[in-house]
Amino acid sequence: MSDIACAAQPYAVGPDSRRLTRAALISWGDKHVRVGGGAPVVVQSMTNTDTADAIATAIQVKDLALAGSELVRITVNTPEAAAEVPKIREQLDKMGVSVPLVGDFHYNGHKLLTSFPECAQALSKYRINPGNMGGGKKRDDNFAQMIEVAAKYNKAVRIGVNWGSLDQDLMARMMDENNARSTPWTAQAVMREALVISAISNAQRAEALGLAGDKIVLSCKVSHVQDLISVYRNLSSRCDYPLHLGLTEAGMGSKGIVASTAALSVLLQEGIGDTIRISLTPEPGGDRRKEVIVAQEILQTMGLRAFTPMVVACPGCGRTSSTFFQELADSIQTFLRNQMPVWRTQYPGVETMNVAVMGCVVNGPGESQHADIGISLPGTGEVPSAPVFIDGQRTVTLKGETIAEEFQKIVLDYVQRRYAVK
Ligand code: SF4
Repeated sequence: MSDIACAAQPYAVGPDSRRLTRAALISWGDKHVRVGGGAPVVVQSMTNTDTADAIATAIQVKDLALAGSELVRITVNTPEAAAEVPKIREQLDKMGVSVPLVGDFHYNGHKLLTSFPECAQALSKYRINPGNMGGGKKRDDNFAQMIEVAAKYNKAVRIGVNWGSLDQDLMARMMDENNARSTPWTAQAVMREALVISAISNAQRAEALGLAGDKIVLSCKVSHVQDLISVYRNLSSRCDYPLHLGLTEAGMGSKGIVASTAALSVLLQEGIGDTIRISLTPEPGGDRRKEVIVAQEILQTMGLRAFTPMVVACPGCGRTSSTFFQELADSIQTFLRNQMPVWRTQYPGVETMNVAVMGCVVNGPGESQHADIGISLPGTGEVPSAPVFIDGQRTVTLKGETIAEEFQKIVLDYVQRRYAVK
């Protein structure tokens, strides 16, 4: 035995308690999505169809909603797009898709919301970028018009500041003030402060214009991980509005996923963030639902929420030359994810299930025993049999060409037995 003294306390595990915020309710009909106020962190996404194409947009919204997006944002950039928004809503309602829609407005949002009242009513929330509304009095008037529409129709807003479109008047004023400091801050530090000031001051102005404080969500999007962490730590300490988290322009493929995960995980671990969106640049022909899956996986792997049974799989190594276990892990993960739209209601709790698919005897039986259900495949030179473990107990041993099909059936039986509503 080692003579190292035992830790004085059991290890602390899990994220810090959630930051206390007001709760904003984003509603469509009977559907209410609560953001903040201690509610589970909400997953949202954004379409990339032309909003003026109502059918294509409604189909993509439906796909994103079925994948688990709890709010879906659509761009509303032209009169043609604004005119189609009520039709998109109607189409979704006909398909039984109640996900609230968020309208993303820049430059002309005040005109579109006032000229197309049916669009204003069909949306459940408006994203307003105070940096893209003109300058001076014009900006103030345009902002006021949008807030008045939100108050009139009892809609929520996200005041979304972005460093790519930061209010230039504010930035210029803050740079002047900075130059007068005995020890001026760096331009980057001033920019971070300007983002936070812009978000909070516009939220306060929205309240002064008559919008209820529980209708406001804030965001300060930047594209570098350390900037995002720094800005949100600061923003969260200076207001109690619920916060939307996301790394803007995160990028493509693994870079976008890693950067978003790195930034958001730090903040979520500190209890900061009430709704998240992963801004991935799609691969050509890629699946837009990937941003929903990544958002869910961040929350689930951090233990903040559960969406889909998780598959634990080893990376493989020289002990198994076969790719069979990789294919099995992939097919089981796909099978489980595809079942979720139905299982979510049929088998409540199934989203917390853990499945292990392991490549050889080294860690296979141990990892499989820790999972709800696991299979340990034979490595190179091992007896060609695959023991299956259920609730920690070794059960059947699978052999031959149909291991994948038989294991999938065992998983299905287990789900039906354990999670069916009695
Ligand atoms: S379980 Fe076996 S095959 Fe998988 S990584 Fe570990 S040693 Fe390699």
